[in-house]
Amino acid sequence: MPRPQKERKVQEPPKIQGMKPIGVPGQLLDKVVLLIDEYEAIRLSDYENLDHQKAAEKMGVSRPTFTRLIDKAHKKIAETIVGVKDLIFEGGNYSFIRNLVRCLDCGIVSAIEKNDSKFNDCPKCNSTNVVHLNKWFRNGQRCGKGSGFGGRHGRGKW
Ligand SMILES: [Zn+2]
Repeated sequence: MPRPQKERKVQEPPKIQGMKPIGVPGQLLDKVVLLIDEYEAIRLSDYENLDHQKAAEKMGVSRPTFTRLIDKAHKKIAETIVGVKDLIFEGGNYSFIRNLVRCLDCGIVSAIEKNDSKFNDCPKCNSTNVVHLNKWFRNGQRCGKGSGFGGRHGRGKW
């Protein structure tokens, strides 16, 4: 049995569940699964421009582990762009530091405390038509060392 992996710290859920190529019928596409901890590696290193050491500290992993994570993430993203595949964000071993809520009426996204499930009103328009983005990903946790490539995804809701 491999040693159980420590949960990686992820700042907040991705704001979307994945991305699709434009110009190809969706049913023809294979998918690539980007694990949530791989997504976080991209966010910290390529988006926030942190060096690998600082990014590793943010996620609570060693620098070599971080480098492996981001290498995998880059390969998967290249596979989606060049190989023309759906990119799905799910799975991995992580816990969110905070959660995000999107208002479905005005569209703004608010950050909330992780355990604040009582957040139900949009701070901008007071709508109660809000979605907690962490819920998208709850069931995807611990799906293991992700067979990241290939396969068609069965979800039709895009
Ligand atoms: Zn709103």
